[in-house]
Amino acid sequence: MAKKCTSCGTEISAEKNFSCFKCPSCGEVEIVRCDRCKMNVVQYVCGKCGFKGP
Ligand SMILES: [Zn+2]
Ligand SMILES: [Zn+2]
Repeated sequence: MAKKCTSCGTEISAEKNFSCFKCPSCGEVEIVRCDRCKMNVVQYVCGKCGFKGP
């Protein structure tokens, strides 16, 4: 299963730089951010608890 950026939906297998971490609120959902979203400080939303973060 290919991982996708939580914010923009880009498959991160095509990206060189990305970060991947558990939701700081519920700790259950893996948040994935591509380099572009990181640079643009795009918000992510946890699909489980609805936590929004930069
Ligand atoms: Zn992205
Ligand atoms: Zn969460």
